Amino acid sequence: MYECFHCLQKSVIWDSDFDFEDYGYDGEGIVHVCHCANCGADIEYRIRTDNQD
Ligand SMILES: [Zn+2]
Repeated sequence: MYECFHCLQKSVIWDSDFDFEDYGYDGEGIVHVCHCANCGADIEYRIRTDNQD
């Protein structure tokens, strides 16, 4: 587990990974979805992999 940006507790749990396509985002990339077991925050990391302007 790692530290939650909101509550500062080491309570963040990784849920799963998705493609941008799964989320309906434009371009190519990966979405890492996590949540905080302490405060209940939903956390998304959106990483672009297409590298196009
Ligand atoms: Zn939290």
